[in-house]
Amino acid sequence: MIPRHEMTYIDKPYKIDKEKYERFPVTRQAFATVSYKDTGDIGYNFWLDKMMANMAVKMQKGIEGRKQEHNALDFGANSLNLLLGNYGKPNTQFLKWDPLFTPDMMQENSVDYDSDKLTSMVKEAAVFYGADLVGVTDLDPKWVFSKDMVKPFVIKEADKPKETEGEFVIPKSINKAIVMAVAMNVDMTKTSPSVKASATTSLGYSRMGITAVALAEYIRGLGYQAIPTMNDTALSIPLAVDAGLGQLGRLGILITPEYGPNVRLLKVLTDMPLENDRPIDFGVVEFCKNCYLCAESCPSKAISFDEPTYEADSDNNNPGVEKWPIKSEKCLEFWQENGASCSNCIAVCPFIEGYKSTMCIECEDCRTRCVLQTNTFMRKKYGYLEVTKWGGESKVLYPRRKGL
Ligand code: SF4
Ligand code: SF4
Repeated sequence: MIPRHEMTYIDKPYKIDKEKYERFPVTRQAFATVSYKDTGDIGYNFWLDKMMANMAVKMQKGIEGRKQEHNALDFGANSLNLLLGNYGKPNTQFLKWDPLFTPDMMQENSVDYDSDKLTSMVKEAAVFYGADLVGVTDLDPKWVFSKDMVKPFVIKEADKPKETEGEFVIPKSINKAIVMAVAMNVDMTKTSPSVKASATTSLGYSRMGITAVALAEYIRGLGYQAIPTMNDTALSIPLAVDAGLGQLGRLGILITPEYGPNVRLLKVLTDMPLENDRPIDFGVVEFCKNCYLCAESCPSKAISFDEPTYEADSDNNNPGVEKWPIKSEKCLEFWQENGASCSNCIAVCPFIEGYKSTMCIECEDCRTRCVLQTNTFMRKKYGYLEVTKWGGESKVLYPRRKGL
């Protein structure tokens, strides 16, 4: 695991083409576009119907890893997600933008502490409620979705966050994002694309819901405003990068130093005066340029083998930010066919726990720009090469948390 104090801090973690970049609407996410293709209806989760049908077929056939007990584990893990926030629909269920239970007299009296103390309190509370990583950044308006399924998100002067008939209003005073990651179970992720891997993803969503709802209510109890968010309202990955949680990798998601990409992200938006963290650089982009493991392991060929680009390669991508575009519809269509979500790209990413040196010997598709050779410096420095004999198992670094 790469210690944070050895990382480089950077001011501009993204290269952005301002001429091309526009705020992204939820309606262009693959969840929405595949839902529409399948049913003709506008919604978040109609794509699930095909996945559930294939889940049932595989279960009835008794396929190993797809049995009733495996699916039961997944449904149990997902239960709190569905109860609290359903993956994130703004201002619904327990993700309400108004306080849930906090008495008025607490909401109306903000505690009188400086921003350093408030930041420590919020971070401690976030960990208490279940976050494995937490960082703070300014809420950059360009990362706020332009619109949800129907209504736009509008940032303007207002007394509180609210949903009107025509829009979601985020007050300009809500200018901070507390961004959090919850780690998933490595052993279960590695069973991808089986249902067990899906179960740890589902538990990640449930934990996202618990943490988002609890931290927002805590902030309201301290006399400040808070919007709890899961996948909704704003793009989680760029906010997580800005808050110093990690870097964006070839596989299209955040790579953290502690858990690699084996995390799920949530955020709470607030007007509480907080101190920002700084974006980090621990070499992910350069590393990914020489590593193709996720792209090679993707059953749907959704991950790019090319260089990062400002261009979109489908309507599901947003152009204007230099990155590796992901063919998200292909990814989601594989989930449907698979009868469960997939985490192959996460499972193979070397950052998940360090390398197995045996990969170098066993790899039959060796490319000239071998990742294991190219990154020998990092491998030595961070213990990936701690083997007693060539070909033996390297040191395996597990996240400190496995499940709740
Ligand atoms: S989740 Fe699976 S299908 Fe989707 S990009 Fe990753 S490896 Fe490919
Ligand atoms: S598998 Fe390799 S290329 Fe893909 S995200 Fe991880 S380090 Fe980057």
